[in-house]
Amino acid sequence: MEKRTATVVKHTGSHYLLSELPAWDVFPAVIRGVVRLKKGSLTNPVAVGDIVEYTRDGEMATIEAILPRKNYIIRRSTNLSKESHIIAANLDRVFLVVSMVLPEPKLPFIDRFLVTCEAYSVPVTIVINKTDLEYLDGYKESVEWFKEIYRNVGYEIMEVSALRGDEIDALRQKCKDSVSLFAGVSGVGKSSLIKAIAPELTGIRTGEISMAHLQGKHTTTFYEMHPLSTGGFIIDAPGIRGFGLIDLEKESLSTYFPEMLRVMDNCRFKPCTHTHEPGCAVKEAVDSGLISPERYNSYLSMLEDENKSRK
Ligand code: GDP
Ligand code: ZN
Repeated sequence: MEKRTATVVKHTGSHYLLSELPAWDVFPAVIRGVVRLKKGSLTNPVAVGDIVEYTRDGEMATIEAILPRKNYIIRRSTNLSKESHIIAANLDRVFLVVSMVLPEPKLPFIDRFLVTCEAYSVPVTIVINKTDLEYLDGYKESVEWFKEIYRNVGYEIMEVSALRGDEIDALRQKCKDSVSLFAGVSGVGKSSLIKAIAPELTGIRTGEISMAHLQGKHTTTFYEMHPLSTGGFIIDAPGIRGFGLIDLEKESLSTYFPEMLRVMDNCRFKPCTHTHEPGCAVKEAVDSGLISPERYNSYLSMLEDENKSRK
C-alpha cells in the first residue's frame, strides 16, 4: 500500500486527525500497535505536530511510523513524576503569553517554560498581552521591570492587546507559513489572542469554563492545530500549569539559561553548579547585575527540584 506523510492536527482520544500540511484536508487515522509500543515513558506516543507515515484503505488511515521530531515541548504531570507528555512537536515558534496583571507574571513558571524551550530547541517569543491596561497604577513599571529581565537574556518580546488590537497584525504576520504554539497560564489571554488573530476560527476555548475540567489529569487534555486563513497553523495549549523539567541533567541546567551559558566558561571549577563554588563567573555576573537575581533564583529553585526528584 502506498505510504504518504501527513501532520497530526488533533488527538481525540480514540483516534487522530491528520492533514497533509500545508494543505488543510483533515481525515481520521488510527495508530498501528507496534508504533504505540515504542512510546517508552511517554503517556502519548503521537502528539499534535508530529509528522507521520500513513497508509489508507478506505475511510480510516493507519499511522505506520512517526518521523524524527525536529523539536518538541514536553511536560511531566508533576515534578516528581516519571511520566511525561509531549504537548506538541515540530514547532517553528512558541508564543509564551504573559500579562502584567490578572494574572501577574509568575517567573518560576515562565523560566521553567523557557528552559524547556531551550532544552528542546524551540524558538520562543514572549508576548505581553493586555497592554490596554497601561492606565493602571504601576503597570508601566511592571512592564519595564519584566522587559529588562528577559531582554537581557536575549528573548524577543512583543507587547500586544487582544482587546484593543495593538500589534495583532504583527503577531499574525509572525505566524505566517509556520506552526506556532500559544502557551501560558490560564487567564493571560491566549484564547482571546487566537481569536483576535483569526476571527474565522470558531471553537477556540475561552478561559474560565473549559479550564475547570482541563485541570484534572493531563492525559485528558487534548491539543489541537488550527489553520489560519492568513497562512500558518497555530496550536493552543490550554491549561499548561505545572511544568516539570524532564530529562535534564542537573549539570546541564545552567546551559539552558542563555545568560549563564555566556559566562560560565569563566568559572574556576568545571563543572560548576554556580551555587557555592569560589570564582564562579555566574555568581559574579549576578553580583554585578549582568544576570538578574530573579533568573538566578529560578535557576536555584529548579536545581532544588531536580535534587528532590532524584532522591
Ligand atoms: P486564556 O485562559 O489564556 O485563554 O485567557 P482568555 O483568553 O480566556 O482571557 C482571560 C481573561 O482576560 C478574559 O476575561 C479576557 O476578557 C481577558 N483578556 C484577554 N485579553 C485581554 C486584553 O488584551 N486586555 C484585557 N484588558 N483583558 C484581556
Ligand atoms: Zn559557576
